[in-house]
Amino acid sequence: MLIDSGLSVRELERRLASIGRKADELDAVFLTHEHSDHVSGVGPLVRRYGIPLYATEGTVRAGEKSLGRTAQCQLIRAGEPVRVDGLALEPYATSHDARESVAYVVRCKNRKLGHATDMGTVTSTAREKLKNAHVLLVESNHDVEMLDVGPYPWLVKQRIKSELGHLSNEACGNLLATVSHDRLKQVVLMHLSQTNNHPEIAYITALQAMGSHAPQMVLARQDRATELMEV
Ligand SMILES: [Zn+2]
Ligand SMILES: [Zn+2]
Repeated sequence: MLIDSGLSVRELERRLASIGRKADELDAVFLTHEHSDHVSGVGPLVRRYGIPLYATEGTVRAGEKSLGRTAQCQLIRAGEPVRVDGLALEPYATSHDARESVAYVVRCKNRKLGHATDMGTVTSTAREKLKNAHVLLVESNHDVEMLDVGPYPWLVKQRIKSELGHLSNEACGNLLATVSHDRLKQVVLMHLSQTNNHPEIAYITALQAMGSHAPQMVLARQDRATELMEV
């Protein structure tokens, strides 16, 4: 299944093929929120392949325009897990400037994957949900200094840094330090800004925050698929 899709169907197909997967194998698409980098490819994808779509009511309403006709949309709510095949996906509320944004915890048998992107601050709920995960996908959006001296307009900078914006490298590191444990196997740093971040800074900040316990660390890139990993 997919969480969000901001790519065109064609580009998504190409990237899935690069890791030996196909779009017609998708059983579900789950949405986090209505911002275009997360939903712009979703409508055409679910219509072309007849894939069931799962989203909060707020996301569906606010994203109506870009999603288009969503006949197969099933409404979900924070705190209420959804089962699809052998997986249980539990949406939890995030602090972001969107109508009803969520991130996900995915469970299968005794394994757990925690996902945390597009949040301006890590709420106590989020921290609780992300504990004891075997794999974590975490936003490491910007370096605060780079953002401050970067080209974005003042208002946008304030928005990104606010509690409804995005996690900085430092905030990501703090989160990792609090939820890290011995069985955490892999961390994927996601949603890196191309303008206000350097992959090396994000990587080193996360690594330092984890101290002596360092799981495998992967950086998700905007221009290609991340390699498949086993949870
Ligand atoms: Zn967003
Ligand atoms: Zn985003």
